[in-house]
Amino acid sequence: MLPAEVMRQAQAEFIDWNASGRSVMEISHRGPEFQAIAERAERTLRALLAIPPDYHVLFLAGGATQQFSALPMNLLAGRAGADYLHTGHWSGKALRAAGAYGRINIACCGEPSGFTAIPARSEWRLNPDAAYCYYCDNETISGLEFKSAPDVAGVLATDMTSSILSKPVDVSRFGVIIAGAQKNIAPAGLTIVIVKAGLLAETLPGTPDLLNYRLQAEAGSMLNTPPTFNWHMAGLVFDWVKARGGVREMQRLARKKAGRLYDLIDASALYQNPVAGPSRSNMNVVFTLADKGLEQAFLNAAEQEGLRGLKGHRQIGGLRASIYNAMPESGVARLADFMQEFERVH
Ligand SMILES: *Cc1c(COP(=O)(O)O)cnc(C)c1O
Repeated sequence: MLPAEVMRQAQAEFIDWNASGRSVMEISHRGPEFQAIAERAERTLRALLAIPPDYHVLFLAGGATQQFSALPMNLLAGRAGADYLHTGHWSGKALRAAGAYGRINIACCGEPSGFTAIPARSEWRLNPDAAYCYYCDNETISGLEFKSAPDVAGVLATDMTSSILSKPVDVSRFGVIIAGAQKNIAPAGLTIVIVKAGLLAETLPGTPDLLNYRLQAEAGSMLNTPPTFNWHMAGLVFDWVKARGGVREMQRLARKKAGRLYDLIDASALYQNPVAGPSRSNMNVVFTLADKGLEQAFLNAAEQEGLRGLKGHRQIGGLRASIYNAMPESGVARLADFMQEFERVH
């Protein structure tokens, strides 16, 4: 979901941006107009997340999945390998991709618990020589979130695709943050990479220029044509987050929205959420029904009420309410009312 205000603005200027007689998607990415859009978006994101000046902010194509390969290509040259915390689907995909480029140590694995909890810190087996320690900040499919950055000594790398801008982040603790735009920032097709400049030296042999963070940073993310319209939309969303009080306010709202659903689920005899309390995601609230046979009836009745997109990910089934920044409190209240009524009836 993207903010309705942003969608309306994008619609109003769709064919005539800034009285220029052209759409943003029709202007040259190298011209002064787009340069201004690009720089402004980066400035606003830097301010929102208090990104230190010695970090590059890249606006790339290819999705978060491409970064599962780009990240090791940029950080593993001459290094012993990397640590990965395996807490669900997305960290699993990332570690399998990275395996093609170096020795990957699975420092912990939440699979025995069905990825419903983050393994205790005391159980992690970290390699002191690892180039970085990777984790997925919010496992979108199973609804599992790190509420604070893992406590590790070395360089941290993280996938924040589904949690970026939903809470403050101390960027200085990270070497790399990757985030596909399509959950909390902009339409699919844009990926943000925030990377500490001092980490970038050699890349692995064969690394394509487009995946080379240092080259992309030197070129202002414009080694080739970037996804310009998405970049523009991202800038509008950054402005929206800023106008609404920034990431601290997003966090307050996210906790309130998610809390309402978790409280309802915990008080209910019909709904269940298997995730360990402190690790429950504030963005993706997954739940199952005590009577699995009612799932389709739940989805049908919800759709009748205009509540859509509640089907869980095809990997694990069940139900999922994704309540990203743009989901208003009133939307969550509508869902909560519906869930209570459905339970009463059934
Ligand atoms: C959606 C998602 C991805 C996949 O992003 P693509 O842009 O489709 O590659 C990766 N990581 C997380 C945490 C996600 O939620």
